[in-house]
Amino acid sequence: MAELLRASRLTLAYDGAEVVRDLELAVPRGRITAVVGANGSGKSTLLRALARLLRPRAGAVLLDGEALDRLATKEVAKRLGILPQSPIAPDGIVVEDLVARGRYPHQRLFRQWSARDEAAIEGALAATATADLRDRALDELSGGQRQRSWIAMTLAQETEVLLLDEPTTFLDLAHQVEVLDLLAELVEGHGRTVVMVLHDLNQACRYADHLVALRAGQVHAAGAPAEIIDAELVEEVFGIAARVIDDPVTGTPLCLPLGGRHRPAVETSRPLAGATR
Ligand code: ADP
Repeated sequence: MAELLRASRLTLAYDGAEVVRDLELAVPRGRITAVVGANGSGKSTLLRALARLLRPRAGAVLLDGEALDRLATKEVAKRLGILPQSPIAPDGIVVEDLVARGRYPHQRLFRQWSARDEAAIEGALAATATADLRDRALDELSGGQRQRSWIAMTLAQETEVLLLDEPTTFLDLAHQVEVLDLLAELVEGHGRTVVMVLHDLNQACRYADHLVALRAGQVHAAGAPAEIIDAELVEEVFGIAARVIDDPVTGTPLCLPLGGRHRPAVETSRPLAGATR
């Protein structure tokens, strides 16, 4: 698979603390890459570096072979769209204005607004089912409606690459599936490249062509979900015992965590008198 983005010997740090160390990563063009890992493993930090929101302490992020920090800001904004985990909007902004902000990188001095901008905004509102909310203030919406509005803003940018940090947060199950299906459609039907941090390993296995499992700021494993996900990896990356079976719907790996109550019994203990199950 041809790669579009690459992290090469990437080290990322906040002040003194290194969070990502010497990381190597390739993002295939025209595919969905999902980044998974335990809390604090460096997923958001990595995504921010891929979007050039965080400057590497060492190493580089390459877009089509060119170091991101050599590209003009507008060029980066036109090619990479990011939805961070907790985006901040101006107070009182309404949905349509938020989505329209996605078009800023496309504006030029003497060509302020075009039919193409209009179409991109309408398309993004329609795709995320937020057209009915266009006049509503963002801060008066439910968490799910707000999240869909942010996704619309990201889509309106019409960038080749979409970087999304937990895009399904705050969404109920139906909207989660809708958003993931929409991203899959953008990849399959429109040749976009998606990189997303996902909390839910099983959704990641269903939707990702390429899965990257982070552990303590390094790539523990990367590849097609079926190639890399097994009980051993789940234990190493998430620190939990699990069974991994084939998802009966998609055939992709399905991880079933074994909590204390569900660990296979090593010995059968006599039930307590009067205990009910
Ligand atoms: P994940 O997304 O996998 O949960 P993060 O990339 O958010 O992990 O965080 C990785 C580590 O970096 C954590 O230890 C976190 O506390 C630290 N970290 C994240 N953001 C900042 C920040 N702005 N300043 C200082 N440390 C941070």
